[in-house]
Amino acid sequence: MSVLEVNELRVRYNPGSPEILKGINFEVGENDFFAIIGPSGAGKSTLIRCINRLVEPNSGKIYFKGNEITGMSNRKLRIMRRDIGMIFQEFNLIDRMSVMDNVLSGRLGYTGNLRSFFKIFPRKEIEKALKLLDRVGLRDQVDKRADELSGGQRQRVGIARALIQGPKLLLLDEPTSSLDPKISKEIMNLIKEMATELNVPCLCNIHDVQLAMEFCNKIIGIKDGVKMFDGSTESLNKQKLDEIYLMEVL
Ligand code: ADP
Repeated sequence: MSVLEVNELRVRYNPGSPEILKGINFEVGENDFFAIIGPSGAGKSTLIRCINRLVEPNSGKIYFKGNEITGMSNRKLRIMRRDIGMIFQEFNLIDRMSVMDNVLSGRLGYTGNLRSFFKIFPRKEIEKALKLLDRVGLRDQVDKRADELSGGQRQRVGIARALIQGPKLLLLDEPTSSLDPKISKEIMNLIKEMATELNVPCLCNIHDVQLAMEFCNKIIGIKDGVKMFDGSTESLNKQKLDEIYLMEVL
């Protein structure tokens, strides 16, 4: 069964400006670790951001677990966003806050603003955060400020923060592009292991084709807002990659 269904999605940022996504279709299944690849500027990030409506599509439909996201009221959207975790390229941590508080901020969709302002989190959420921090290898960094951590450690906090939500889908927007190749692999490994343990499907915008092929079972390739490839990782061959990445030679 598909967790996410995207139909004929079209986006332009401003009236009269060029169309960025030109009718994109795909489906993410329950067990997928799904990659969106394509050259810089192809529309990958725009596509990921349409899923939780950080970007509003102009037309097309998106269904998450059978419910239409496009056209959802703000109240329903807030509730739906609890089920969709996001991991960002630049980590999006609050630097002056501790590692623990950054992870707990992943519960903001559930905890009232006032309670979170006074840092009143239920004991079971603190225990859950500690468990996740242990699992991502940061148990002894809990009280550190986020800006004292390395890039790889910061992304580990980002992973714990996304997972404490208890998401039913994880969106990864270039999760490794601020990291060196060795750390990138460690982070992808960790995300994949944890997503598998927790049965959370992933949709990943990733510019590094090698990483996509190593970690993802399904891939779509986008070029200039048009889907050029949609299939299993094994079926992505050199010719198809060339069509996605090579400039047309006139
Ligand atoms: P990718 O993730 O594949 O690099 P993006 O989705 O970031 O591509 O960008 C696709 C195109 O949309 C680019 O031409 C970019 O300049 C444009 N774009 C992205 N975000 C905005 C925005 N907020 N306003 C206007 N144009 C944007």
